[in-house]
Amino acid sequence: MSITADPSITLAGTPSVDATPAVADLDVIVSLAKRRGFVFPSSEIYGGINAVWDYGPLGVELKNNVKRAWWRSIVQERNDVVGLDAGILMHPQVWRTSGHVGSFSDPLVECTACKRRYRLDELPGTDSLTPLQLAEADVVTRLGLVCPDCEGSLTAPRRFNLMFKTFMGPVEEDAAVIYLRPETAQGAYVQHKNVRDAARKKIPFGIAQVGKSFRNEISPGNFVFRMREFEQMELQMFVRPEEGATAAFDEWLPRRLEWYKAYGVSPARLRAREHAPDELAHYAKRAIDVEYRFPFGWKELEGVHNRGDFDLSRHAAESGESLSYFDPSTEQTFTPWVVEAAAGADRAAFTFLIDAYREEMVRDEKRVVLGLHPELAPYKVAVLPLLKKRDDLVELAHRIRNGLSREFAAVYDDTAAIGKLYRRQDEIGTPWCICVDVESMEDRAVTVRDRDSMEQERVSVDRLEDYFLGKLRAARP
Ligand code: ATP
Repeated sequence: MSITADPSITLAGTPSVDATPAVADLDVIVSLAKRRGFVFPSSEIYGGINAVWDYGPLGVELKNNVKRAWWRSIVQERNDVVGLDAGILMHPQVWRTSGHVGSFSDPLVECTACKRRYRLDELPGTDSLTPLQLAEADVVTRLGLVCPDCEGSLTAPRRFNLMFKTFMGPVEEDAAVIYLRPETAQGAYVQHKNVRDAARKKIPFGIAQVGKSFRNEISPGNFVFRMREFEQMELQMFVRPEEGATAAFDEWLPRRLEWYKAYGVSPARLRAREHAPDELAHYAKRAIDVEYRFPFGWKELEGVHNRGDFDLSRHAAESGESLSYFDPSTEQTFTPWVVEAAAGADRAAFTFLIDAYREEMVRDEKRVVLGLHPELAPYKVAVLPLLKKRDDLVELAHRIRNGLSREFAAVYDDTAAIGKLYRRQDEIGTPWCICVDVESMEDRAVTVRDRDSMEQERVSVDRLEDYFLGKLRAARP
């Protein structure tokens, strides 16, 4: 069954009272992520590199599953959306036309004493300021802002461009400067016509893309929330002007909210927040952020934006290529408008991880569970022999894992007693464990234990594959 848009999810329907975060202390997640191999600091043996994180064995499974779930809902289940994988490096003119060279910047202030740099709008005391107020030259002195670390005085704000630059080819000169893309969206705009013609799509249709983006963020942090190298999952819908954009906006905002809920995020910790007119980017006609209640506050997960005809008009004007569309049914020619749903793969994976975390007492013992949706869980099944010294049990357990792993991720483990093995799988979100015991040798059946209910069921070895495929299918949104 596919996710259907629910028109009842509107701005008015978002929670009005603040929600309790799923974990009070982010360190709980950071340490679980490191210990169990979800996320490691990049280049750690050299002291790490700020705002770059590496996904370990479980993290790469989780993030791949998040991207796959997004692709399924956005591309696979839709007849009007197709995929694209554009290069990270693009013609530098793309970024001049898009406005990124001129204005993709944040206000930077520097401490005159300790030389630390901050994003002005993230300093304490700037919460209620509008973008216009933040741009005023005397904002630092007027508000009496000082360095949060050493209380030294701060410089007046200056704009700091967030794009990483590098050189194309063997000569390091200005003419060879190119940029690491700060968003994937531009690939869809400059390839709009190629994709439309090749896929024989009529307006409205969409181009979806998942890939790396890079931003030289002034103040990265909060673990993988704000990174300098990250992955985006972006949909660009190309629609008729005005009413087409309104209709697309009204369809995609609830769909995207629903997607997070369908994969387990608590509705109370999700909300939609509309940008005020003075907060809107120069190209945007309307923007609503899907926000999640992180332990460090309500923050953006994804942005749904009506970008008008800004993108295609600008690229058409600068490139000299026509990007307009002739509609044979109305005999009208127009430049398509764009409605985008721009999400982050890392932020989404991080959100699923935080929201799935729970601690509970079971027989006076603390049990840590990641209640991840089965489709997102790194492993679907763990196969555990009750006695690792019994070759026949070990052999059957391996055989079961090998068979199941042709269909989905399954893991074998015999490095502890069964109770401990169950707990370890609970902590990484494995929905089902199989215990191969002595009786299995007689009845060719195994015990299947459910992560959430901890209930156990005897299932014959021959039926296991269908049993789990049925459960996975039933859980799919
Ligand atoms: P923010 O306000 O958090 O800086 P943004 O409004 O600049 O985000 P967009 O340009 O709309 O973000 O990017 C779309 C999505 O890409 C964001 O909603 C987020 O999920 C993700 N994203 C953007 N910047 C980062 C980053 N530095 N690290 C991780 N994910 C990011």
